[in-house]
Amino acid sequence: MTRLIDVDKIKFEVFITTENYSLNPIYSSEYKRGWNNAVNALEQQIAELPTVERPHGEWITYEQDYHYANCSMCDFTITKEEKEEFNFCPNCGSDNRPKEGEKE
Ligand SMILES: [Zn+2]
Repeated sequence: MTRLIDVDKIKFEVFITTENYSLNPIYSSEYKRGWNNAVNALEQQIAELPTVERPHGEWITYEQDYHYANCSMCDFTITKEEKEEFNFCPNCGSDNRPKEGEKE
C-alpha cells in the first residue's frame, strides 16, 4: 500500500533544522555546506516523486455503537475520541473530513 506523507511538513522540519545549523557556531562551514547539499539533493528527489490524489472517505459510525468509527475506504477502526482528532485515516491516509457544505 502506498504511504501518503505530508511533504510540506517534512520541508518545514528540514528548514527549521537548517536554520538551527546555520545559526549554531559549533558546526563548521564544511558541515553546513554538506548539510545544504544533502537538503538540496533531497528536495530535488522529492520534487521528482510521483504524486497521488488523496482519496476522500468518511468516518462511518453506527447508531448502536457510539464508541467506534470505521474508515469508509479501508474499514480501519478508531475510537470516537480519535475520530475528533484525525482528519485523515491513520491506516490508508484518506481525507475523512466532511466535504465542503456537508454537515458531520
Ligand atoms: Zn482508511
